[in-house]
Amino acid sequence: MATLLFAVIAFTGGYLAGLHGAPTQAQGASPNGAAARPAACYFSPNGGCRDAVIDQINGAQTSIEVQAYTLTSPAIGDAILRAYRRGVQVAVVLDAAKTGESREVAAQLAQAGVPIYTDMTHGVADSRLVLVDNQVIATGSFNLSDAAEQDNCENLIVLRGNAQAQAACENHFRLHLQHAQKFDGN
Ligand SMILES: [Zn+2]
Repeated sequence: MATLLFAVIAFTGGYLAGLHGAPTQAQGASPNGAAARPAACYFSPNGGCRDAVIDQINGAQTSIEVQAYTLTSPAIGDAILRAYRRGVQVAVVLDAAKTGESREVAAQLAQAGVPIYTDMTHGVADSRLVLVDNQVIATGSFNLSDAAEQDNCENLIVLRGNAQAQAACENHFRLHLQHAQKFDGN
């Protein structure tokens, strides 16, 4: 009976943790603490989307490619800047870095030397990708803003080690990088 009761409590606890946005399929962690699972889902509000993005950026060793409608979260901006300063190759393409909501964080990053681009080719440049080390895709409705973490209903999926999806996302990113304009921070 005690065993059954424990099992029920454990199941209920796990289910409630899931409701609060805990990632699925826990299978260990990478050296930097970021999830090393092949796929994980996060949900806003307050379900870890922002921290999941930051974990992936913090774990980057060679490259970070960001495509986003907005980048207004100071914490994500700081993580990108730290990665850039430790030698990671960074490129950030935003919908309207120069004039839009992202201007403040984008200007800070651009003035620090981080390559920031603005893609004004479309009605809205709403594609959202964070690509890390040619191994990780973080994508979903989640914008790189604090409002998206704290207030909105959003989702974020982090895929690791899916070569076919990675190649498609890398191609998509480069296509838009090619016609984006460099933003100098002014
Ligand atoms: Zn484009």
